[in-house]
Formats: sequence, C-alpha cells, structure tokens
Amino acid sequence: MSPTSIPPTARTAVFPGSFDPLTNGHVDIIERGSRLFHRVVVAVAINAEKTPLFSVDERVSMIREIFRDHPMVEVDTFKGLLVEYAKQQGATALIRGLRAVSDFEYEFQMALMNRRLNHDLETVFLMPDEKYTYTSSRLIKEVFMLGGEVSGLVPPTVEQRLRNKQASLRNPMAGTRKA
Ligand code: ADP
Repeated sequence: MSPTSIPPTARTAVFPGSFDPLTNGHVDIIERGSRLFHRVVVAVAINAEKTPLFSVDERVSMIREIFRDHPMVEVDTFKGLLVEYAKQQGATALIRGLRAVSDFEYEFQMALMNRRLNHDLETVFLMPDEKYTYTSSRLIKEVFMLGGEVSGLVPPTVEQRLRNKQASLRNPMAGTRKA
C-alpha cells in the first residue's frame, strides 16, 4: 500500500494517571503526545484506595481548564482495567512519562502486563524536558504544604488551587454559612 492510500484514521492515545495535581511534567508529556496522536485522552484514575488531596472532579476540572484551547486533548475518568477503558476509547496506544531510571522498573512491568492483556495496544514512553525530571505530584504537594515555592513546576491555576486547598484545610469552616 502506498502512503497516500493509507486511510486518514485518527489515532487516539490514552494518558492515564492520578494527576493529584497535574504538574508541568504532565503538561509537557501531554503536549508531546498531542504532536504524535490526533486525540489524547487524559484519563484520571478513580482509585478508592488512595487518599488524594484533590477530588477526581477537582482534578478533571483543572486539567480541562488548562487544555480548554486544545481540542485534541480530552479529559475523562476511568476505573477498572485500563486496557478495557483504552479499547472503549478506540485507543491504539497508552502514553506514560519516564523521568528517570527509578520509573523504569514499575513502568516496564505495567507495559508488559498491559501488552499481555491486549496485544494491539502499545505503550509509548515519552521523556519530559529535563527541567521536569525531578517533578512529581507527591513532591509538589509536600513542598507546597510545607510553605515551599512551586511556581514554574505547576500551571498557575494549579498553584492557585493548591493555595485554596491549603486555606480550606487550615480553616475547614471557611465558606460555610451558619444555619
Ligand atoms: P500514577 O499514579 O499513574 O503514577 P501520576 O499522575 O503520578 O500517576 O503519573 C502519570 C504519568 O505521568 C506517569 O506515567 C508518570 O510517570 C508521568 N509523570 C509524572 N510526573 C512526570 C514528570 N515530571 N515528567 C514526566 N512524566 C511524568
């Protein structure tokens, strides 16, 4: 088949994660992914075992706000088997970010397990700009809650929401009205 006769099938990739919260490392990977695929679905995992800082709805809303001018980036939630969700989305690939060797072992196991579960789904690893290789949602939350500076490592709207979250955790009655 000549390249010109290949049908222009839209390629979809799913980028799954906790995104609690989204960092500039995630944004970098989503931007790289959207240069390779026609449609990137950022899929926020609903994981009852974890105790997140932001609810799933809060995480979805902040990611939507950040990518509102990028029609090829969609934001959704999923639970259960990722390969099943990817199939429902018509995805041909999963995107994962690789920061350092420390990410490799877990990601390698996940990728091979997912391949075993669905041979037609490839895992594509993308590396962020080196300035984000030490950024993780966990570290951002820790540093921010202890009063450290995180600007430049998360989008401005995430920084604002971290500030609001910190205020509401310090003063849980703020914003509630007396009956
Ligand atoms: P999970 O709980 O699935 O690890 P995360 O939100 O922590 O969810 O990460 C989602 C994906 O984004 C993972 O593939 C992770 O390796 C990648 N990732 C997280 N932080 C960065 C970063 N700073 N640069 C590149 N990739 C990242």
